[in-house]
Amino acid sequence: MAILVQKFGGTSVANAQRIRRCAKKVIKAVSDGYQVVVVASARGHQTDQLVSDALELNPNPPKREMDQLLSTGEQQTVALFAMALDAMGHEAISFTGSQVRMITDSAYTKARIKSIDADRIRKQLDQGKIVIVAGFQGMDEEENITTLGRGGSDTSAVALAAALGAEECEIYTDVDGIYTTDPRIFKKALKMQRISYDEMLELASLGAGVMHIRAVAFGKNYNVRIHVRNSANDKEGTIITHEVPQMEGVVVSGATVQKEMAKISLVGVDNVPGNAAKVFARLAKAKVVVHDIIQTEVSPEKANLSFMVAVSDLDTAKEAVEKIRKELDCDSVFVRDDVALVSVVGVGMRTHYGVAEKMFEALAKAKINIDSITTSEIRISCSIGRNQAEKALKAVCVAFELDKPAGQRSKT
Ligand code: ADP
Ligand code: ASP
Ligand code: MG
Repeated sequence: MAILVQKFGGTSVANAQRIRRCAKKVIKAVSDGYQVVVVASARGHQTDQLVSDALELNPNPPKREMDQLLSTGEQQTVALFAMALDAMGHEAISFTGSQVRMITDSAYTKARIKSIDADRIRKQLDQGKIVIVAGFQGMDEEENITTLGRGGSDTSAVALAAALGAEECEIYTDVDGIYTTDPRIFKKALKMQRISYDEMLELASLGAGVMHIRAVAFGKNYNVRIHVRNSANDKEGTIITHEVPQMEGVVVSGATVQKEMAKISLVGVDNVPGNAAKVFARLAKAKVVVHDIIQTEVSPEKANLSFMVAVSDLDTAKEAVEKIRKELDCDSVFVRDDVALVSVVGVGMRTHYGVAEKMFEALAKAKINIDSITTSEIRISCSIGRNQAEKALKAVCVAFELDKPAGQRSKT
């Protein structure tokens, strides 16, 4: 029998009525002949609530205890989901991440999955049960509970789908699929039928919160077909898949904005081998995730080095830079904590010209100053002032006609 993994996000399971609505989707899949594994998130704003409960008692809670606490949100949902299915006449059994041996490393609050023992799940499925697994969590080799980072239930679901060889992994959420940009900011954003793993990886890394980035990476590496759709209706959503030839025809498929960014610039660093390595080794040691590095030689003796970090990592990043500053003989350190990053993504950029020009023109027309620019083969990002973030996203969406179906947009 084919296995289907269905993941339900926080808003989809926020109350009893919504859990019942999700349970009906599970029952429908069972009646279609699937063995179903459900992955559920914590209800509504439960995880945020648990975070604030922790901070009320300790402004810097031990990370192990944080994970012990946060994992309980999902544990509640899975038990409630199983009860709902039982009341609807279906046999179901719920498990925490630890109970299905979702083994992770020990990086509390951002652990990575190492292995999953799918046998326990398979045994239950073969007994005709619906299996419900708590998303977002696992345990390390010493049996400490870990969590995978905010939004991590997507990753639990896709990883389980890979481990079980599922036919598809459905990600049920509160929008109809993946849109050309966040529909909460740009109301006319259009839902895509398909998107490539690579584009979705870029969009997710640039702040499209609809999918956890590691879920997309798992999907790509293990060939899991991912279907992002709305738990409130039966519409077809968006399929995340390998690239298909016609995708190249779409120049820009999506846009994002990351509002909570900061930029650190090391001005006048000694232009000698090893200095960049020293800076980023420090930052890595401090577990800071670095975005968009730019280094430019400004004279034979000196170079400027800039990079972006999330505002939440800024203090740690500044501390790390201060520790190394003297060694680099750096003239000054310039920090901006009011930055946003607006980006466009599309595999078609590889084969079309004029994309950068169109983006810069759109921002210029909106009177938005670009403070730095970074590119990859399939994206262009501009850092701008945070107070202009939404205006910039809208300007870019209009310029690239992201409110129109791909076939109706002009090519450059
Ligand atoms: P869940 O709790 O189901 O995991 P999330 O809040 O994590 O849901 O993700 C869904 C939200 O992602 C949507 O409500 C939407 O505002 C936001 N989002 C951001 N970018 C996009 C995008 N490109 N397409 C769809 N949704 C997006
Ligand atoms: N409950 C977790 C969070 O709010 C995980 C998830 O929803 O995916 O981040
Ligand atoms: Mg999510």
